[in-house]
Parts: sequence; C-alpha cells; structure tokens
Amino acid sequence: MSTQAPPALTERADALDAADELAPIVDRFTVPDEVIYLDGNSLGALPRHVPAVVADIVERQWGHDLIRSWNDNDWWHAPTRIGDRIGALVGAAPGQLVAGDSTSANLFKVLAAGCRMRPDRPTIVTDPAGFSTDTYIAQSVARLLDRRLVYAAPHDVLDNGDRAAALSDAAVVAFSHVDYRTGQLWNLPEVTAAAHRAGALACWDLSHSAGAVPVGLDAYDVDLAVGCSYKYLNGGPGAPAYLYVAARHQATFDQPLSGWHGHATPFAMTVDYEPADGIARGRCGTPPMLSMLTLEAALDAFDGVRIEQVRAKSLSLTGLFIDAVDQLVGGDVQVVTPRVPGRRGSQVALRHGQAFQAVTALIARGVIGDFRQPDLMRFGFAAPYLTHRQVVEAAAQLADVLTSGVYDDIAPSATALVT
Ligand SMILES: *Cc1c(COP(=O)(O)O)cnc(C)c1O
Repeated sequence: MSTQAPPALTERADALDAADELAPIVDRFTVPDEVIYLDGNSLGALPRHVPAVVADIVERQWGHDLIRSWNDNDWWHAPTRIGDRIGALVGAAPGQLVAGDSTSANLFKVLAAGCRMRPDRPTIVTDPAGFSTDTYIAQSVARLLDRRLVYAAPHDVLDNGDRAAALSDAAVVAFSHVDYRTGQLWNLPEVTAAAHRAGALACWDLSHSAGAVPVGLDAYDVDLAVGCSYKYLNGGPGAPAYLYVAARHQATFDQPLSGWHGHATPFAMTVDYEPADGIARGRCGTPPMLSMLTLEAALDAFDGVRIEQVRAKSLSLTGLFIDAVDQLVGGDVQVVTPRVPGRRGSQVALRHGQAFQAVTALIARGVIGDFRQPDLMRFGFAAPYLTHRQVVEAAAQLADVLTSGVYDDIAPSATALVT
C-alpha cells in the first residue's frame, strides 16, 4: 500500500493511538500484517490464544476425555455459562442469557414465546429495513400463531401518529439495536419504554451492538433479546448465537422449540415436556460443542475490558474515519451513517454509485470492508483490534481508489461478496 494519508491526519491518528487505553489489547488478536480489517461487523477477527484452546478442546476434551467431557469438562452447562459472560457485555445480570442455535432460530423462539405471553394481542411490530432473516422469521411466527405483522421503523413508534398507534395491538415489538445497513443506533431505552406503555413486549436483536456498544438490557427493562456472537464478539464463523429472557418473564417463557436440552430433567427421558427452571429453558438440542467452546475461549479477549472503553474507542475510530473521508473523498460519497455520535453504532456506511467495484478494489489492496446492495460500502470498526492509524490509511486508500478509477475494469456482481 503506497498511498499515504496526509501528515495532518496521520499525526492526529498517532496522537489518538498514543492515548488509547485499549492499545495493549490490539495484540490479543491476529490479523495479517498486510490487512486493514474493517469487517469485524460481519466476522470478528481471531483472538491469538484461541487456536491453542481449540487444539485442547479437540485433542484432550474430545479425543481423550470423550463422553466424560459432558461432566468432567462441564460441557453440559457451557450454554448458560457462556450466556452469563455475554450477559456481562450487554448489561444483563447472570441467569438471563443462554448461548446456542442461530440468531434466526433464537428469534423464532423468543417471538413465538412473546406472542404466547400476550395471547390477546393480534400483531407483531418489526422494521421492514431490518436484517432479512429477522423479517422472514417474524413473518413465519405471525403466520403460525395467527398474528398480523405490522411494519414500522423503531423511531416511528415514538411518534404520536398512526405507527405509534400500532403498538396498542402489539404482542411484541422486535427491532435491531443497530441497523446492519446504515449503522444507525436506535434509541433502545425510549423505544422499550414506548412498547411497555402500550402493553407490548420489547425484543431487541443485538447482533450489531453486542461487544461494541453498551446495551443495558436490565437497566432499560428489555423483555427479550437475541444476537449472534461471530461479529463484534469474535466467536468464530457460525459461532452459536444467544437469547435473553428477563428474569421476570422466565416462568412464563414458553418457547416453541421444546428440545430435550431445555427440559427440567433431560436424562429422565419422560414422555412429556417440562421446561427447566430459568434461562436453560431457552435451550433446544445438543449444541455444536466445538463452536460453543471456541466462543467461550474467544470471549477471554474481553477480559479486563469495560464495554464503555470499547464504545469510546469505537466512536473515536468511526468519527476519525468520517472526518478523513470528508477531507479526502469529499462529495464523491454520501455518509449514510449518522454523524451524531450517539446515533451511530460501530460501522460507517458510504453510498456510491460504484460501491461494489470500489469495495472489490479496496479488498484487493488489503482494506477489507463489504458491500450491501444496491450502493453501500460498509466499514466496521472493531475497537479491540484496530488502530486510528489504520483508519486514516483505509480512508486514503478509499480516496485513491475513487479518484484513480482503478475499479473501472471490475465487473459488477451481486453475489461475489457474501459476507
Ligand atoms: C448477523 C445478523 C443475523 C444473523 O442471523 P443468523 O441466524 O446467525 O444467520 C441476524 N440478525 C441480525 C440483525 C444480524 O445482524
């Protein structure tokens, strides 16, 4: 990468790096030297210590201890043990999160259970611009449980207009905390309170906030939540997701995937399902233990780190990136992500007519972001392993790609970037 950012920007970046409280943990991750990795909002980087732990899981726990591992290495309680650790990062006291299954499957569980908790309310409210799988799952739950799906953006329900009125019929209001496309951070406390005033349950998808943004599940009385662990939590490709049920709802949480791991006495193998006490009833079947334990090890990368520190650095990184893009790229792109710090998550989305080609050219130079149809470049900023210097270098590369037109030869493709 020969393109250099102007000295004023690199000096500012270096000063920010010198003052960075999280600088010592950058080394906890391995990212190839030639890469500036701005896709941790899609697949988090590999924590350096994880390969050795994975070798132990495979060779000792599986290879040597075999079936005894369910007891001797306490495989059985891994989902709730890991749930508590994720809970600490999203503001939930122990006993309210459980790891397992995918975000899609967990959303199915909590939406259906939420509808069962509000049997007289005919609708589910969700954001049509939400992540596709979330709307697909909501559509199926609505069909299955004979509810009507009502579309509204999170902030629409705060108005006093028609969309807010939609809440009065809602069993569950289900939104993403951070919009995966634009990077907008929605106002979880206010939207949750509005749902409660209307008598609805509030369900949040934390896929783009857990590990990057303080969430405050308990502090804001959230009812239900789900999220994935392979983005800012760095759990590894396809790592188990999680679900949250506030302690006050657990006794009435009747989730539809009533598998034996969620049973009160799983090894009694009784005919009838009786849910376990507490959050363990959110489990379904045997978890993928290799992925589960890999996730557990990966979470060690957050040891001694407060999520407020991650947030402060993330805002510093995204703010610097936006400034550098303004300065170096100017009007060639539109910054889609809110510029107000309190309204953005941990990514910056830029609109450009040839976004796909530009991202492809950037990746060829080792600056890895991604593309979302039809015209968005997305750059995720994982504070634990990025430096401010990398941020301005990435912006300089972007400016160079856009001004040099190197992407003119790249054929547009809708499918080449499946991140
Ligand atoms: C990443 C993401 C998912 C992923 O769902 P999977 O079932 O794990 O594939 C779901 N919802 C949102 C909002 C996401 O950002």
